[in-house]
This record gives sequence, C-alpha cells and structure tokens, in this order.
Amino acid sequence: MKDLFDRYLAHTSEEPIGMEIERGEGIYLYSPDGKKWLDFISGICVMNVGHNAPEVVKAIQRQAALYLHPMVYGEAVMAPQVNYGAKIIELLNNRLRRIYFTNSGAEATEGALKIAKKYTGRGELVSCYNAYHGSTHGALSVGGNPKKKVGYGPLLPGVSHIRFNHPEDLSQITENTAAVIIETIQGTAGIILPRDNYLKKVRQRCDETGALMILDEIQTGFGRTGYMFAFQAFDFEPDILLLAKSLGGGLPLGAFVAREEIMAVIQKNPMFGHITTFGGNPVSCAAGLASLTKILDDELVAKMPAKAAILRQRLQHPAIQELRGMGLLFGLIFDSFEFAEAVRKVAFDKGLLTLGFINIDNGLRISPPLTITEEELHTACDLMLASVEEVWSGN
Ligand code: PLP
Repeated sequence: MKDLFDRYLAHTSEEPIGMEIERGEGIYLYSPDGKKWLDFISGICVMNVGHNAPEVVKAIQRQAALYLHPMVYGEAVMAPQVNYGAKIIELLNNRLRRIYFTNSGAEATEGALKIAKKYTGRGELVSCYNAYHGSTHGALSVGGNPKKKVGYGPLLPGVSHIRFNHPEDLSQITENTAAVIIETIQGTAGIILPRDNYLKKVRQRCDETGALMILDEIQTGFGRTGYMFAFQAFDFEPDILLLAKSLGGGLPLGAFVAREEIMAVIQKNPMFGHITTFGGNPVSCAAGLASLTKILDDELVAKMPAKAAILRQRLQHPAIQELRGMGLLFGLIFDSFEFAEAVRKVAFDKGLLTLGFINIDNGLRISPPLTITEEELHTACDLMLASVEEVWSGN
C-alpha cells in the first residue's frame, strides 16, 4: 500500500509521514500492522468528537441510505442541511442569520471575499501577516506567508497585510477596504491569541470605515477553545464568519455565515452569484449535526477548562519555551525546527501523533479530540514529556 502511495499519489512534501491507517476509534488511530497512535491533533481540529463516534457513523449511514445528492446547493430543501444550518444560526444567536454551505474552508473564504466586495462595492482587502485562510487563489492571496506564494502569482490585486495584535497598523483599513479577514486565534502561525481587546479594535476600525469584518473560525470553532465559537470569548461579532474542519464531523464541509443583507448579494444581478455542486452535501451535514449534537449533549465545552488546566500543569520542561493557547488548542514552542521535528518523530515512535505548523517551524500542535478524558490527557502528556526529555537529554 505504501508503495502505491509513494508511486501514484501527489505529495505535498518530500517526506510525508506516510503511516497507513486502518481504522480509528475515540482518540486512537490504528495501522494494519497493529501500531496505535494517540491522536493529539484530531486531523487538525476536525475530529472534535473523536474517531468513529457511533452517533456520527449512524447519522452518516442513515442519511446515505436516504439520498446522497439530489440537487446543486441552494435549490432543494434537504432536511440535514436545513436542520444543521438552523442549529448553527441558533447557537450564534447574533446578527449572522444566513448560512451558505461549501465543501471546504478555502471555499468558504472565497465566498466571503466575493460577497464582501459586492456588498461594499470596494475592491481592497486587508489580512494579517502569518494568516492562513486556505490554498485556493483568493485564499492564498489573503494568506500571510509570502513563501507560500512564490511561483503562484499573479494573485489577487488590492491585498495588503497588517500585523496581528498591532492596533497601530489598523489605519491601513480605509474607506476603500471591502473587508478585513482575520482569524480569531492565529492557528497556522503557531496559536497566537489576540491580546488587549485587539479584535474589538479591529471591529471598531471596520465600523469607522465601513469595511466588513470576516472572521475565520475554521480551526477554532465547535468548542475547540472552551467556547462554542472562539470569538464568543472576546465580546464582539463579525459581519461574516467562516467555518469548516469540525463543521463536517469528519466529512468535507465548510460554510460562510453572514448578515441577511450581505448574503443577499448573491441572489440577483446576476442570480446564482455563488454556486457549488456539492457544497452542503446532505451526508456531510448529517455528520456535522451529529457531531455538534454530541458536543452539546456531552457538555464538552463546559469540561474544557479542567482539561486545559491539565495541559498547562503537565507540559512543563526546560526545553519547552512556551505553551500557548486556550481550551484544547495549544502550540508547544521549542527553540528550533530541528528540536521540534525530533520530538515529533520520537513521539510518533512512542505512539503519540502530533504535527508542526505551516507558518512557524519550531512548534508542535496540540489539539486532541474534545472527548479525550482527563486520564487520557495525562497519558498523552506522559508520552509528550518522555519524548521531549529523550531529545533534550540526547542533545
Ligand atoms: N482557515 C484556517 C484558519 C485553516 O486552518 C484552514 C485549514 O487549515 C483553512 C482556512 C482552509 O480550510 P480547508 O483546508 O478546508 O480549505
């Protein structure tokens, strides 16, 4: 199998991890030859209720037996889509009243950029250095890592970048700005939390200039940070919200959620202003709704502070320069790429799966399924500390 993977599948790096997965259950992934990994990343914030949660599997099976794809997005009434959309709007409980389902996070970014331009009649976009909003052309244009853009230009014109957590840069948002696109917590940059009411200041500057605020909660949504949506911790609301990853409960799904009048621009002049064949696939929506229902029924969000406290208490070592994050979304920061990568490999051999970040190279991700028990978290911390110590003492 690995041989065929090496021969025929496109690889995004020269050295993919390349482990073969036979099945997943709860917080564990298993290979066909009997290896087992404690999943400390949840497919990067996707498997918030763990692998193969019976509620999610059943919902997928039930919907798959009814219908898979009756119609392009937006024309037919499909119960899983409608029920899921209504539940998300209800949980948001703010001015974001219309949801558009896509297939992925990058597509949600694309849709949001389009409606922001059309609604405001403006062409300029502002985003943050070190941001990640997806890999398609528009999303890459508002990405904040110049190295990732090399060779793919020309990208979108009219995009400028500001530094996250630097209110002095907000003057770059002007009356020509259609939208500011920003993550609530910069994930790919190594889990950078907003400081000193920064996001409220962005909101304020958007209000002053008439620019829209597009908030990317693709990594941080669905309980990951100890709030259902991370922005709920920071006392403001965006004009457009981006969701994906855990939204689909493990199946492909994204969404942008906007105020009524902003979303309305795709309906006319011309009609069908943003279309997708598979966006909001009913099986994905059924899986996502089952996953969200489990997050609510098992009260996973309320259990997060105790779990976060375990990580904070346990993950201390002279080699760990910083542990930053909230809820069950953390970055473990070391002094170099070589050290972080060595820890990742040792942890992998010990049965703990973690991964680096795209926009910094000296950190590792921690984002286990929210269903992880306190005891399992201690096991994960034991494995991580043993791995750090092994690399440290071998240095
Ligand atoms: N935005 C953020 C914050 C992300 O972390 C990601 C994916 O990692 C995306 C957007 C893009 O989502 P997708 O990979 O589903 O296109």
